[in-house]
Amino acid sequence: MIRQFELVERVKSYDPGADEDLLNRAYVFSMKAHGSQARASGDPYFSHPLGVAEILTRLKLDSASIATGLLHDTVEDTEATLDQLQEMFGGEIAQLVDGVTKLSRLELQSDNTKHAENFRKLVLAMSNDIRVLLVKLADRLHNMQTLHFIKNADKRRRIAAETMEIYAPLAERMGMHQLKDELENLAFAELNPDAYNSIIQRLSFLREQGTDVCAKIVAELQKTLKDADVPAEVSGREKTPFSIWRKMQKKRMEFEQLSDIVAFRVIAEDLGQCYQALGALHGKYSMIPGRFKDYISTPKPNKYQSLHTGILGPQRMRIEVQIRTRSMHDIAEMGVAAHWKYKQGQAQIDGKQYRWLRELLDILEHASGPEEFLEHTKLEMFQDQVFCFTPKGDLIALPRGATPVDFAYAVHSEVGDTCVGAKINGRIMPLRTALQNGDQVAIVNSKAQTPSPAWERFVVTGKARACIRRFIRTQQRAQYLELGRAMLHKEFAHAGYDYTEKAIEGVLKKFKAEELEDLVTQVGEGIVGAREVVNAVFPGNKTATPADKLPAKRAKKAKGGHAIPIRGLIPGMAMHFAGCCHPLPGDRIVGIVTTGKGVTIHTIDCETLESFADTPERWLDVAWDQDADAAEQHTGRLDVVITNQPGSLGSLTTVIGKNAGNISNLKIVNRSIDFFEIIVDVEVKDLKHLSNIIAALRATPSVNSVDRARG
Ligand code: MN
Repeated sequence: MIRQFELVERVKSYDPGADEDLLNRAYVFSMKAHGSQARASGDPYFSHPLGVAEILTRLKLDSASIATGLLHDTVEDTEATLDQLQEMFGGEIAQLVDGVTKLSRLELQSDNTKHAENFRKLVLAMSNDIRVLLVKLADRLHNMQTLHFIKNADKRRRIAAETMEIYAPLAERMGMHQLKDELENLAFAELNPDAYNSIIQRLSFLREQGTDVCAKIVAELQKTLKDADVPAEVSGREKTPFSIWRKMQKKRMEFEQLSDIVAFRVIAEDLGQCYQALGALHGKYSMIPGRFKDYISTPKPNKYQSLHTGILGPQRMRIEVQIRTRSMHDIAEMGVAAHWKYKQGQAQIDGKQYRWLRELLDILEHASGPEEFLEHTKLEMFQDQVFCFTPKGDLIALPRGATPVDFAYAVHSEVGDTCVGAKINGRIMPLRTALQNGDQVAIVNSKAQTPSPAWERFVVTGKARACIRRFIRTQQRAQYLELGRAMLHKEFAHAGYDYTEKAIEGVLKKFKAEELEDLVTQVGEGIVGAREVVNAVFPGNKTATPADKLPAKRAKKAKGGHAIPIRGLIPGMAMHFAGCCHPLPGDRIVGIVTTGKGVTIHTIDCETLESFADTPERWLDVAWDQDADAAEQHTGRLDVVITNQPGSLGSLTTVIGKNAGNISNLKIVNRSIDFFEIIVDVEVKDLKHLSNIIAALRATPSVNSVDRARG
């Protein structure tokens, strides 16, 4: 265990302006807070935060990050509270510790690594400060270094798998190769001990065999460069067992001699020298075709820069060489963490090539100093997404603004179709609630539920929208099918035949329909006339239109509210006028399709229509037929208030009668000392007719008010 003064010295060695007092106080606070707690290894628990802080000094991070490393488990695992940290160490440290604590809690929620990519994004989305992530990675590295002390094999495996799938890739994308290598290698040892051990054995055998091979190669390369007047440092570094393993899996890699598993590295003084060194090596040794890559002119997305080449080097051994400058090397090893160091050291790094961390680097570029970079860096790259958990811990990525309905459809379309409610973090919430990062969402389902068209107004995912629409279409089709069948029944009967499906089957081709249902639906939709079908089935049929043949009957029907010419309706469709608003010719109207009942006509301003707002597919655009029989009578309903005095009711009926209105019903709905409120149904020709009656009534002294009755 590193001691207090050693830790402070280490920080001061790379950051002379380090906050010594802060480091000392954080050290003491954490040690006291963790008290007698112990690790699986038997060590005092404090050895863990201290180990984390030590790893962070390797990344040469600022005092606040080191202090956060020391304090990172105090809120989660000890009596200490955030308020306490805030009071003792200030808002910055408290926020950083809070961030790390939140990430640790997330970790406990999901033990399913198949959603690794989403989980990585969630971790990023939740890391408001890049330092939170750096501390978390250091925390994970230390836990991996001490993993073997954990007795439960399942738990070890779970942590190793998570490290392999979540944290190592995160480290890699942040360009922190050294950290990534360590995490991967430790996880590899746990997950595949047989492979790990055999590579370790092979490595030590090769090391014994070729003790001086490596040193000889380094010396000869160094001499080659010196002769070419390129003052560069050459070194050889053994690849990690995991990277050897992965290469063996990917391609048939030779694993014959030490040079096969050692990468040689040339550190040049500047960019120009990198290419000079490359020229010197290629000039002296044969280059292996296909192995040269220029990551200096085209850096990797994580900002990695280097020249890679393969040569038939000293002693005709195939070797790999990487050539880079010192600053490229630091970035290759430390990634994002190196930026902080370089900002401090005034060495500007061009951040243009970072794709993955572009937002981060934009802030970095515009920050005035290293402190500002670290303090104000917000990882905003996934701000357009939210990540939520299923009750089983599966992670679902959704666009920002997504609701439980989107979530349900993302899980499975059936879950979406039958969803009736949602519990968010254990609480029942409305289906239109916008989900937040880390929410746990449990969908309540019911077999009886079907998608509501109202959902379409708040869902944000294409899948949810498509599913809802598909359902509405199917439902609509079912309605037209039923309607079509009723119309055919009617038309067949009218022509004096019985409706049979068999008869229709015979004429499908004629209407280019593939199935019986298609044709019947088309009739329901009004695409094909019912009479056309009858005439096709019975070519001799000469049934005339009802209007031609049965004028008398039609007039009679009009009384009963049928056969009233309204445009936009399919002929033969069952239709009636709504009792709530009593539409009259001249009123603007809409039709509402009711399965099994045909169409109900409402006035456009009828309040009842509100209850159909959610089912736009049931609305029919209809209008009065101007050529309609003027003799037809319609019922208008009036709401009249008359004064409570002798003769009032008489005046009312007289005025209506004088204006050619026929009262068909009359009902007193309210009665007070002064007034009567009466509902009067009057048979009129049209809206104009009723308006005349209303005007006449308003002119009557005993009538207090007159309006058309609604609802
Ligand atoms: Mn920890």
